[in-house]
Amino acid sequence: MTLLKVERLTKSFGGVVAASDVSLTVRRGEMVALIGPNGAGKSTVFNMIGGQLQPDSGHVLLDDAPITQATASERFRKGIGRTFQVAQAFLSMTVLENVQMALLSRYGETRGLWSPVRPCHREEALGLLTQVGMEGVADRPSAELAYGDVKRMELAIALAGDPKLILMDEPTAGMAPAERSALMELTDSLARSRHMGVLFTEHDMDVVFGHADRVLVLLRGQIIATGTPDEIRRDPRVREAYLGD
Ligand code: ADP
Ligand code: MG
Repeated sequence: MTLLKVERLTKSFGGVVAASDVSLTVRRGEMVALIGPNGAGKSTVFNMIGGQLQPDSGHVLLDDAPITQATASERFRKGIGRTFQVAQAFLSMTVLENVQMALLSRYGETRGLWSPVRPCHREEALGLLTQVGMEGVADRPSAELAYGDVKRMELAIALAGDPKLILMDEPTAGMAPAERSALMELTDSLARSRHMGVLFTEHDMDVVFGHADRVLVLLRGQIIATGTPDEIRRDPRVREAYLGD
């Protein structure tokens, strides 16, 4: 069943066509990698799916319902969770409070900036932290976390929206190889067990080929190839354009 359908998204910045006629689909339970060199347009595509950026033309559909006009927070409530290339968590709060904040947002409960989030949805937040293996650091200020743990916390924040789809833009950038595999293994098992779709970008080809069910190759704003990791690895256009031989 198609969960996310992206139809012919196009976006220009001044004279630069960052995304041109990009179409793709993600099914439930599927891990899809969007790869391509720096400047290929990956983040632009993610931002148009997440609602941070309006396309010049094209459509985004979630479970066959058009969401192209929806704001980012509306999309979060409809089931699109995401982690960002730069961590967006509130660093002054504890790990648990960050997840509690996300649950408040999911349930549409607004809180004044200074009212305590502590009592809200505590058990559910702890449950999500357990799913990402962080129950032991729930009360630590998130500013003190190692980089890999910030990424796992962001995953818990994304899960707080009970997402159908998770968007991960370079989740493992800046991580050591072992940490990278661990994060993607966690994501992979969550995608299977929760039957979520995952769309991710990643520069480490071992991670891509190890975890993606399908790979899309973006070059200068256009998708030049799509296939299984094996097909992409063997595709001569991809090897020439991107894999460097
Ligand atoms: P990637 O994530 O694959 O590295 P991006 O989507 O960030 O690529 O960028 C694609 C192209 O669009 C690049 O040429 C970039 O300079 C340009 N671009 C991206 N965002 C903006 C913006 N907000 N304003 C102007 N140009 C942008
Ligand atoms: Mg990017």
